Amino acid sequence: MFPNDLTEKYKNWQNDTFIKKKAQFERLAREGQSPKYIIISCVDSRVDPNSIFKSEPGEFLVHRNIANIVPPYNYITEHSGTIAAIEFGVTVLKIENIVIMGHSGCGGIKNGYSMCKENSFNTNSSISNWLNLLKPSFDKLAIMNEDESIKDLEKVSIKTSIENLKSYPFIQEKLDSKEINIYGSWIDIGSGKIHALDFASGIFKSI
Ligand SMILES: [Zn+2]
Repeated sequence: MFPNDLTEKYKNWQNDTFIKKKAQFERLAREGQSPKYIIISCVDSRVDPNSIFKSEPGEFLVHRNIANIVPPYNYITEHSGTIAAIEFGVTVLKIENIVIMGHSGCGGIKNGYSMCKENSFNTNSSISNWLNLLKPSFDKLAIMNEDESIKDLEKVSIKTSIENLKSYPFIQEKLDSKEINIYGSWIDIGSGKIHALDFASGIFKSI
């Protein structure tokens, strides 16, 4: 009916975390959620924002997609899942902080890089259609060796996603009235170090 290992993990959570935080869960059930952060992260199983920031229940609205991309406004009907989650967080839940979090060794970025380089996009593949969104970031890359370029694409695409985010009228409105903050970050999986985007220099710096 349900995988044994998942059942066991769930029972452990129920007998430990849930018991300890019972009052918190009851309050969240009664009052609803009011998360402080929207976090856009990759689907990669190694970069779970709730685990990395040791979050409490109800603290983050997390949306994950391949390569943590926010598509631009002109793709609103084609790729609306990510922005729908953000729009819900910003306009309904009134969340004031959006964090885009990329990571090292991103398979989505690596594949997207190859597709951009070889112009080998396949319109019958959802992955390919999605990674096509990396093309504007790929076009911004400086010429260097392939490994360096792929690493750079992980970070350049975060900056592009931030620019894309700003192309939505509801985001622009909130930025104009200083009601939201947008952050870019990238985590190095092996060292566990987070680098945050410094908007003044455009460089990701260790936090
Ligand atoms: Zn990834």
